Amino acid sequence: MKITIYGSGYVGLVTGACLAQVGNHVLCVDVDPDKIQRLEQGDIPIYEPGLDKLVRDNAAAGRLRFTLDAAEGVKHGLFQFIAVGTPPDEDGSADLRHVLEVARTVAQHMDDYRIVVNKSTVPVGTADRVRQTLQGALDARGAEVEFDVVSNPEFLKEGAAIDDFMKPDRIVVGTDNPRTGELMRALYAPFNRSHERVVLMDVRSAELTKYAANAMLATKISFMNELANLAERLGADIEAVRVGIGSDPRIGYHFIYPGCGYGGSCFPKDVKALERTARAAGYQAELLAAVEAVNDRQKQRLFDKLHTHFDGNLKGRTFALWGLAFKPNTDDMREAPSRVLMEALWESGARVRAYDPVAMDECHRLYGERDDLTLCDSPEATLDDADALLIVTEWTHFRSPDFDTLKQKLKQPLILDGRNLYDPKLMQQLGFQYLAIGRGENPSED
Ligand code: NAD
Repeated sequence: MKITIYGSGYVGLVTGACLAQVGNHVLCVDVDPDKIQRLEQGDIPIYEPGLDKLVRDNAAAGRLRFTLDAAEGVKHGLFQFIAVGTPPDEDGSADLRHVLEVARTVAQHMDDYRIVVNKSTVPVGTADRVRQTLQGALDARGAEVEFDVVSNPEFLKEGAAIDDFMKPDRIVVGTDNPRTGELMRALYAPFNRSHERVVLMDVRSAELTKYAANAMLATKISFMNELANLAERLGADIEAVRVGIGSDPRIGYHFIYPGCGYGGSCFPKDVKALERTARAAGYQAELLAAVEAVNDRQKQRLFDKLHTHFDGNLKGRTFALWGLAFKPNTDDMREAPSRVLMEALWESGARVRAYDPVAMDECHRLYGERDDLTLCDSPEATLDDADALLIVTEWTHFRSPDFDTLKQKLKQPLILDGRNLYDPKLMQQLGFQYLAIGRGENPSED
């Protein structure tokens, strides 16, 4: 089949590469000339395990191409996928500018039936707006061309995106046209070999399903963080509590890890957008507002602990920071807890020596050269002259460091762990002061 994808970011590029991998002919359109040029040269602008090989193989086989030319894109695919960003607006609701821009572009060049498939995460009612935008632009041209608008939200996780796309738990397709539903089923048949994964529903339900999934996961995290903060005050260990509740299959172990807050390009903005959607619909979504507030507070936890530990005297101190990406296996630093922590440290006059296996370039792109930030080429190198080690991302190779070296290099044996990687008893035996999340170490803290 012939497919066009607008937006070559995490979602668009993975979707394009995976659809090409099963034999389709995919044309990826982006408005960023630098991105398209790099992709044409086989240089993948984002870090995602396995993506570079998949893109290169399919490009070499002639099934995956890249262009800036939207007219060529409209001509190419029966399926016109929208996978552009939907960042938060000033008030937190989703900014649909790019989505509607693609709709206008498609209508400008469309002279045959097209299925416009929206993969971006968008509020309920967006498919109607896309439909109106398309129709308006077609009318303005005096063109009479049929089209359908489908909602097909994406559930892939950065860091495991290829696997998620190739072996999805479910493929949600929202359409009011049964024939289009069947065409979408045919498109996804290669990913459906073991059992039926396409869940067909109406458009509005499909749009809401994506927000519901992300809001549920964010709620689990904020719930655990709320309990972790309580556990600290009660002298309980949240990790024991986690295992104790996770063993109940109704609760499960997924997404109940306490930590220094969720980040990334999806949870923060989607929880916000859903809460704003509720407000616009005249409903006060109190739980969603609390999920967001708890997370904002949680991102400050490590800084608050550090501030308390040093009696507010952080000026002139140096801190080693392990992890910059919002989670392991990605270079994405959007809304990452590391940013809140670094910015608070800089504000207090402290310096940061940071290491991340893949997000260093991204960090440099975001913050540039500054005197109070040193990007180090190994975890050990961050420790030079550092008053404490701060852990923000749970990369696997941070799990078992050489504690002797740590102790030797740090000015004082102090670790603040935002991901609960180590056993507090062992840390105590090794002579570290170990401040983690919800591990009963600070019963008297206010
Ligand atoms: P991204 O920012 O990585 O990529 C968006 C791309 O769209 C950019 O390359 C940008 O240049 C391009 N673009 C903007 N306007 C365009 C236009 N008019 N025509 C063509 N290209 C254009 O975004 P992303 O992380 O891939 O997310 C895309 C959407 O998918 C968002 O709505 C997001 O919420 C959703 N989503 C993201 C993830 C994720 O893990 N990143 C997962 C599921 C869903």
